[in-house]
Order: sequence, then C-alpha cells, then structure tokens
Amino acid sequence: MKKGIAASKGYAIGKVLLQKHEEIIITDSKIKDVEAEKAVLQNALDASKEQLQKIKAKAVESMGQEKAEVFEAHITLLDDPEFTGGMMLEIESNSINSLKAVDNITNTFVMIFEAMENTYMRERAADIKDVSKRIIANLAGKGGEDLGITEENTIVVAEDLTPSDTAQLDRTKVVAFLTNIGGRTSHSAIMARTLEIPAIVGLKDITTSVKTGDSIIVDGIEGICIINPDQSVIDEYMAKKEIFIAKEEELKKLIGVKTKTKSGKRIEVCGNIGQPEDVDNVLAYGGDGVGLFRTEFLYMDRESAPTEEEQYNSYKYVLEKTEGKQVVIRTLDIGGDKTLPYLPLPEEMNPFLGYRAIRLCLDRKDIFRVQIRALLRASIHGNLAVMFPMISGLEEFQAAKEFVEECKVELKAEGIAYSDTIQWGIMVEIPAAAVCADELAKHVDFFSIGTNDLIQYTLAADRMSEKVAYLYNPMHPAVLRLIKMTIDGAHKHGKWVGMCGEMAGDEAAIATLVEYGLDEFSMSATSILTAKKIIIEQK
Ligand code: PEP
Ligand code: MG
Repeated sequence: MKKGIAASKGYAIGKVLLQKHEEIIITDSKIKDVEAEKAVLQNALDASKEQLQKIKAKAVESMGQEKAEVFEAHITLLDDPEFTGGMMLEIESNSINSLKAVDNITNTFVMIFEAMENTYMRERAADIKDVSKRIIANLAGKGGEDLGITEENTIVVAEDLTPSDTAQLDRTKVVAFLTNIGGRTSHSAIMARTLEIPAIVGLKDITTSVKTGDSIIVDGIEGICIINPDQSVIDEYMAKKEIFIAKEEELKKLIGVKTKTKSGKRIEVCGNIGQPEDVDNVLAYGGDGVGLFRTEFLYMDRESAPTEEEQYNSYKYVLEKTEGKQVVIRTLDIGGDKTLPYLPLPEEMNPFLGYRAIRLCLDRKDIFRVQIRALLRASIHGNLAVMFPMISGLEEFQAAKEFVEECKVELKAEGIAYSDTIQWGIMVEIPAAAVCADELAKHVDFFSIGTNDLIQYTLAADRMSEKVAYLYNPMHPAVLRLIKMTIDGAHKHGKWVGMCGEMAGDEAAIATLVEYGLDEFSMSATSILTAKKIIIEQK
C-alpha cells in the first residue's frame, strides 16, 4: 500500500500503464550558425503551437471551454517575448544550441514562480515546465506523441503528468492516475477533479514500485493505492466504488434545488472564493452565492497593491457571474499569517493578535480607500454585501462605515454611480464580538462567523500549530456557546447570520448549526452538495 495526496476523489480498479520518463540529454555545445539555430527553434515552437491547438480543441470537448483555457495560456507562452523571445536572445548572445537555450530560460522562469508565496502561483511553474518539455521534445524529434493508451481500465502511473498529458487522457480507457510529484492545486489535480477521475499525487516513488500490467486499486478519497491486491480486497473496493458512485449521482440531483430543512426553513449554501474565477466552481456545484470572497488574495504575489480599476474588474466579474445571487466580499484581511512583500508590517510577538485586517485598514486609509471605492463602484453590477474582518467592537465598525460614507461623497462628486442597497456586515471571529453580538446586531446588516479564528482565540490554540491541534476543537462547548450567542443576538434584531469558517462545511457540525438557526453556510465549492444533503435531512 502507498499513501499520497488525494487529488481527486473516487475509486478505481485497473491495470498499471507506466509512463517512461525519457531523458533528453542537453549539452551546452556552441553553435556556429546563429540564424540557422534560431530557425530550428522557431520550427519547434511552431510545431508546439500546432500540437497545443489540437489539445485545446480536445480539452474543450472533454472538460469545457473554461478549463481548456489553460492551453490558451500555454499557447500564449509560446509567443511571450520574455519566455520564447528570451530563448532566441540566448542563442543570439551566447551562441548556445537551442536545447540549452530553452533549458536556461525555463530554469529562470521556474525559479521565479517556485519562489512565490502563494501555492497557486507556485504551482504555475508546472505550466512553464509543461510548455518547455513540449518544445524540447519537438527539438529532439519526439514531439506530438500521445501516451499510447489502448486498454480499458488503465491506470496511468507517471513521475508527473503535465496539464496537456492530463487533457489528452481518454476517459473511456483511463480510470485513474497516480504521480510521484504534485499537490492538490496543481493543474493535473484540478483537471482530474473536472474530468471526475480519481487521482493521487505526491506518491514519491510509485513509478519504481509498480510495473506496467500490475493490477492496482486507487482510493482517491483516502489517497492510498494498493498494488496487486487479493480478490477479497478487490471485492471490498468494488463495493465501496458502487456506493460512492450512487452517492455522487444522488448528490448531483441537488444542484439547483433550494435548500430547506424538513420544517421548511430556507438555508443558503454558498461558496468561499479567493480569486474571481473561483466563482465558476461555486456555481457549478449549485452554490446559492458567494459567502466569502477573501480579497487579500488579489493583493498577493505582486509587486504592488491592485489598483482601483483592477479591483473593480475583479468584483464586477463575480457580481455579474452570480446574476443577482448574493456575494459577500470581505475587505482586506492582511496580517497574521498573510503578508505582502510591498507592505512591510512591524515585527510582532503575536501577529495574530496584532496589527492586521480592519486595524491596519483603518490606519492605512490610503490602502483602504482604493478597495472601498472599487467595491462601491462594482456594487451596481449585482447583489453585493461587504464585511469587515476582525471586528472587536462597535467603534471599529462605525469607523469603517464612516469611511465608506466619505468615499461615497467622493464618488458622488465625481459623478460615479454606486448602489444604495449594499449590505454592511462584520466577521464575528473575535470572542468579544460574539459576546456582544446582541449589541452589534443593532448596527450591522448581518454577521458572518469566522470559526477558523474564533476557535483559536476562544481556546487559545494557534490554528497553525500542530502541537496544539488537539485543542482546536470546533465542537468545544465554549465555541458552540459563542456561536449560539451570535445567532441569537442577530435574530433578536432581525439580522441574518452566516458562517464562512471551515466549520460550516464540517459534516459533523452542520446539524448543530442548523439547530442553532444559522441562516447561511459558506464553504469550499466541493463541499456544497454534501452540506445541502445534510441540511435537508434536518428538522
Ligand atoms: C475565519 O477566520 O474563519 C475566516 C473565514 O477567515 P480566514 O480563514 O481567512 O482567517
Ligand atoms: Mg479569519
């Protein structure tokens, strides 16, 4: 048995097809005819483009236009003046051969991406490697080859699968894949989820543990695979697979169904997003809207803060896509574990208790103004609610609201429109806010309970520390009481309450939260249908 990272759920039982890793030797021999070498590279680039166009067309068919866009990005890379232009320049300036030029520039790009803090951006290095691998294969005369899959129930095992390899997998034959490297947010993992084939990545040495033809079980839920299993184990997994498929089919029926408890209470089940495009997944899983847009992700992996125009476009995208469904956008929650290279924060002993989120925004109005103006401007494009993070008391909410009024006056003077129906709320993630919820509720339009922080502050158990993870318990009576107080406090004044911390998608907590009267649950897109199912089973 081998354990890796469960990248796409489901079960598969099949035969291994081991992808050989063909090494292409790159030497740094010098060339004499620069122009001829550049022409060789240009031919390889043209061939790569042609292949990628075909792959993209195939991907559009198998996983839809949006997911296939990654190949458009690959095609664009082939024309990128710094990427392929840089390769040409390498040949010209250093008289090196084209293979070496591709290798040099790729290494530089990969190093830049891999050094980025954001996991998503870091994993984009895989796209660069993918394009580069294709160019190199074409230069070596080995381009355009497919994976050679002819048998049904094939389980592809490889060092890594590039996005283009993944897109070409024939779903009628390939039932799962396993790789040595990769993470949950690598493109091959994302694509496996879109194609709905089980996958385990990061297995480290699976390619040396199996050979082509071995029989293998893939458990994409636990992230384990069993090599050459006994018949009894096969039977056990066959049964698990059947139950899983039946459950998934059942869950899909809930897309588009309004979530109501047995007693008829309507509950919104929404998705959390970090980038505007994430909204597509929320909608695909039948989300009732967005319950948390963590806008700090717009500020990360860049050299300066996003401009008003950039932010406006991001918010507008989400508001338009959701077509009138509610979108809760949280203002910048930087500090704690989230830092920005261009915004140095003071060294603090306890950054989670320090200068962060609303505290920082009220101090740095220059930064806050850009975001509030962008939000106000975007508000005319949909159903917007805005919330402030880390509110500990009324003064902070009032100060934030006063600043919003200032921004409205500015916009009005400039003749720029905004909506009068935006709802203004707060995250309840500091125990003080939960305890004073009945007071705060008189002033806000809604609450959203941020249990990720609320739990750590209530139990004095750092959410990042493995050592005290045993104390970090969402079902601790103190946490539950604070949640109940928050919901009761809001309802006393006719306000609604959502929850956007991980606890909202926790299957073990949902029944209790429904019983307490929570009005809205917001979670990662893939948890929406399971949550809906549990909610409709409640009284
Ligand atoms: C929370 O604290 O529960 C929350 C949703 O915010 P974050 O995880 O971004 O701190
Ligand atoms: Mg928080």
